[in-house]
Order: sequence, then C-alpha cells, then structure tokens
Amino acid sequence: MKILVINCGSSSLKFQLIDSEDDRVLAKGLCERIGMEGSRLVYTKAGCDKIVIESEMPEHTKAVRLVINTLTDEENGVIKSLNDIDAVGHRIVHGGEKFSKSVLVDEDVIKAIEECNDLAPLHNPANLIGIRACQELMPDTKMVAVFDTAFHQTMPSKAFLYGIPYDYYEKYKVRRYGFHGTSHSYVSDRTAKILEKPYDKLKTIVCHLGNGASISAVKDGNSVDTSMGLTPLEGLIMGTRSGSIDPAIIEFISNKVNKSIKEVMDVLNKKSGVLGLSGIGSDFRDLMAAMDQGNEQARIAIDCFCYQVVRYIGAYAAVMNGVDAIAFTAGLGENNSYIREQICSYLTYLGVEIDSEKNKINGTETVISTDASKVKVLVVPTNEELKIAKETLQLI
Ligand code: ADP
Repeated sequence: MKILVINCGSSSLKFQLIDSEDDRVLAKGLCERIGMEGSRLVYTKAGCDKIVIESEMPEHTKAVRLVINTLTDEENGVIKSLNDIDAVGHRIVHGGEKFSKSVLVDEDVIKAIEECNDLAPLHNPANLIGIRACQELMPDTKMVAVFDTAFHQTMPSKAFLYGIPYDYYEKYKVRRYGFHGTSHSYVSDRTAKILEKPYDKLKTIVCHLGNGASISAVKDGNSVDTSMGLTPLEGLIMGTRSGSIDPAIIEFISNKVNKSIKEVMDVLNKKSGVLGLSGIGSDFRDLMAAMDQGNEQARIAIDCFCYQVVRYIGAYAAVMNGVDAIAFTAGLGENNSYIREQICSYLTYLGVEIDSEKNKINGTETVISTDASKVKVLVVPTNEELKIAKETLQLI
C-alpha cells in the first residue's frame, strides 16, 4: 500500500509518500510560503537530488494539487495516478481529551478536531485545512488523523492536573496534554525492540531534544508523564521557548518593560530559550561553535539546557520508581554527542555509564551505554512520518 503522510502548517505543507511493504519513502517534500509570494515546492524522489519547483500556491488546495501532480509526473513522479495513493495520514497537533488514538476521518471527527482549535489556535486550523484540501482532490480516499497529544492521554490525573481551581479543568479543559506523542510512542517502542525487551514491561525515559524539546516517562508501554503541558511552551528550555518558569514572571516583566501579556508571551515563545540566554542563536551548532571560542553566554545556555533535562530525568525515574532505558532522539538527541555526554555525566547515581566511543555515533540506532551500565542509554532516530503511515495502514 502507498500511504501519503501530510503535515500541514499555516503556510507550509510537508509530505512523504511511504510504501508500507518495506517502509520505504518513495518521495518527500515541503511546500513553503503557501499564501505568500515566492511559494515553492522542495521535492525529493528517492535516490535522486532535491528539486525546487517554483509555483503559485495561494491556498492549500493548490499545494496539495501540486504535490499530487509532482508525484504523478512522468519525469519526477513515483506513481502513475492519484488512484495509487491508498490512504492519507494527517498529523494533527491537538486532540484534546477527545482523542486517545488515531481515527478514520469523517465529518464528526472533523467537528471534534475543530472543537480543539482553541487549545492549538495556530496549528489545528491549519491541520484541518490540509484534511479539507485532500478531501477535495481525493474524495474517495480514506484519511486518518494522528494526534500529537494522543499518546499522552494515558497519563493519570495526578500527572496531568495543575494545582489551580478544578473548575478551570472542568470548564475549560486546562490540563497537561503533552506533545510530540507520535515521536515518544515510536521511540519508546523502538527502544524495547532494540533492547529485545517486552514493551509492556519497560520503564523508558524518552528525551526528544530538537528545537522544540520534550521528555516523557513511558512505563509498561504507556506515557505516564511528560514535560510539555497545555501548550508546547511548558517544560524544557528550548531553542526559542522558555520552558517552565515561575508564572508570576509574566506580570512582573509586563510591568517592567511595559508590554502586554500577549507581547510577553511572544517573548517567551520566540525570544527565550537558549536564544534568549545566549543572545547568539537557537541552533546548538552555533552555540557550540561560540562556546568553543570561549563565549561564556553560549556555555551558560548549553549548561542550563542540559541541567533541565537532568532534572526531568530525575523526576521521571522517581515517578516510575526506576528506569530501564533512556532514549535520545530528534535533532540534538540524535546528532549532538556533547549534549548527550553532558546529560549522562549527572546520572552516575542511577548507574548510567556511557561508552564514549559509541557515543560518537550520530543519527543511527545505537546503544551508547556500556555493557555494565545499569540503565541502557540509546540513540533512536525518530520517524514520525513512518509512525503516522503505520497507524494509517492499521486503521484502513
Ligand atoms: P525541530 O524541533 O525544529 O524539528 P530539530 O529536531 O531539527 O528541531 O532539532 C534542531 C536542533 O538539532 C538544532 O539545535 C541543531 O543544532 C540540532 N541538529 C539538527 N541536525 C543536526 C546535525 N546533523 N548535526 C548536529 N546538530 C544537529
């Protein structure tokens, strides 16, 4: 079967066409600047070089049309016609409490996703536009919605409730939801397979460390806690996001710098994290280069980032009453051996012992702890698209 995986943002659309026979990516691409001038599709067919197709995309239906035309194109395409696409899997950011697993899309599902819009006002409406655009062009093709929040719906109330009036939860559904669920689910499952241990009997801490970063505690195959909250702003210090701070800081800073709450929130989302701390940038490659040249602010930002990760690992080892495996994933987790080593250097009390030779390996599934290490430490490249394709296949 050929599954088209769509991740639709407000001005972008990422896709992969995956052959479920062998999990191969036949083609993938990104439509950028939808609704703006200079829109283009960056497209890669398996085994070929990237090509860039400049094309007007005033709205998402045009983007989906361009994707389909390119996939079926005689020269660059990988399928003969639209009919070769057996199903479409859509990444949906917020499923609220309504969705604890992936579902086949119908009108009721679309309505329920719409009802979650105020929990993710930037993402969910864009995700829905992607569904509508695909439905318009492929009315007879089955679609599946896969939610970032679904995997974390197994968290117990003691983990997802905030210490605020219970009314806010009952009336407005203010609670921890958690994100990156597809990644946490995929990586924890792979971890069990790599270690040849039963997934439903393993305590794993997954560190998804990218520009956006989150940690989860996965016990016996279920997410029991995670660092992101009502929104993806909570938790770790990230590229540009503050992560958890004292909520009183918002009013304090608003008064000091004469900014509205909305403006302060913008600072917390876009100008904080390691970017805000270092004043250099949000990309750790730039920070590491600056640190190597003796830049103190870069070192502080990296130290703060690692320290927060260590804090969460300690907390999650505590709530699970132990930990069998720690898995690093996403841009930093997969590719930055310095960060992994720094984090693990705090964890000797858990019996963590890293093999520094193995830790040099990047971007491939590897156990980087020594044979004697009490807790296994792994690098597990995430693959959210493949996970979405697999969920889609299962549902159709
Ligand atoms: P996003 O949350 O935007 O998907 P990524 O998972 O791509 O973020 O992670 C971005 C971070 O990962 C950056 O700070 C960057 O330094 C790091 N990173 C990504 N790819 C590499 C690589 N090949 N080598 C080293 N660092 C990388």
